[in-house]
Amino acid sequence: MADTGGAEQRSTAQAVVIRLWNSRWLLAAGIVAVLTVYGFADMSGYVVLLACAVLLFAAAMLPASVARQSAEDAAAIEAGGLQQLSGEYLAAAVADPLIIFDRTATIVHANAAAFAAFGGIAPGISLSLKFRAPEMQALLDSILSGAAASDVVDYTEKLPVERAYRVSASSVGHGTDLYVLVFKDQSEARRIDRMRADFIANASHELRTPLASISGFIETLRGPARNDPAAREQFLQIMQNQTGRMARLIDDLLSLSRLEMKPYLKPGTEVDLRQTLDSVIDSLGPLARENGVAIERDFAEGPLDVPGDRDELFQVFENLLENACKYGQSGGRVVVTIAHRDDGPEPGIDVTIRDFGPGIPEEHIPRITERFYRVDVENSRTQKGTGLGLSIVKHILTRHNARLSIKSEVGNGAAFTVHLPAH
Ligand code: ADP
Repeated sequence: MADTGGAEQRSTAQAVVIRLWNSRWLLAAGIVAVLTVYGFADMSGYVVLLACAVLLFAAAMLPASVARQSAEDAAAIEAGGLQQLSGEYLAAAVADPLIIFDRTATIVHANAAAFAAFGGIAPGISLSLKFRAPEMQALLDSILSGAAASDVVDYTEKLPVERAYRVSASSVGHGTDLYVLVFKDQSEARRIDRMRADFIANASHELRTPLASISGFIETLRGPARNDPAAREQFLQIMQNQTGRMARLIDDLLSLSRLEMKPYLKPGTEVDLRQTLDSVIDSLGPLARENGVAIERDFAEGPLDVPGDRDELFQVFENLLENACKYGQSGGRVVVTIAHRDDGPEPGIDVTIRDFGPGIPEEHIPRITERFYRVDVENSRTQKGTGLGLSIVKHILTRHNARLSIKSEVGNGAAFTVHLPAH
């Protein structure tokens, strides 16, 4: 006990010394003032001593009151700020739909995002009636029974459009008897997952078909056609075509995945479109001759350079020109145009590849750049198509900030225009 009392006395003495030290300049100024007055006025020594004692006492007390004052000020500022931050303001600042409810599962408040996402909610409405799905009922039960302080479920809203949410519920606590529901929209992530799953299913299907055909012919060659040289030759040719088809598909798949892995274009490289398109036309000369298609050039005068990656743009024009020669074969000619586009909001260069074949029915045009989408599957297969050409084109153009527009009239051919920005 004696020890504790001693320690307390020591700490009080230390506090007083610290306060005196903190106010030393004020104290010194006070003492100098008293001594000055003492020097000039006819003052008794007792008065000077009394004045110094008062100054010492004030100095010892002053910092404590100042510290107390600043702590009180901080508390007042914090309390004032929090009062302004009412639940309503906080809820409005949350971008996800948020609903505050009480222990009878009645809505107390909903933010603007919740009103926009779910029609027919308002304070006073029962959450159990609004969200009747079993998973939402289970979430409300678990949180209101106190079984868990917070809980999460996946919930799908069917109307007006299907949206998938991850819903978290938690108790506000602090004696409020209030609870909060927050809806995180997962629809976009789900859509991407579904697209990935579809893509894998399509790619596997595309590979399995030629594989099944090769395997069937191997069996026939080992069995019934074992001693039939003519059939063997024919089957080997089919098998070779099927392996070619698989190789093309794998090349296109690798192209797509390489494009997805490359994060962005190397800046500062320019592509000479005249030279690039001349090379593309030369490389497809044999295919055009084989299909009886004449390729015509209509290139603007002067330099035709745009920023971009030469190999990638070569791949774009090669795909478009190859399609024009294959699918527009019946038109007998294809025109490749390069034109400046100086007017309008996006100055740049347009490259158009136009054929005069059967064209593309209007309803297919919006989907034609999707992976594995074909207007006529059999025709695409006979033309050695993989269904990935235009999606590779679209991918590369997105990386170049460029656009693809497709115009077609059934019976009058199709025109694919690439709009490349100048900068
Ligand atoms: P594919 O490997 O099948 O050629 P693409 O993605 O390049 O795949 O093209 C998708 C589909 O678009 C083709 O299967 C074809 O049906 C159609 N198509 C593309 N270009 C033309 C064209 N110039 N004329 C008519 N149809 C075309």
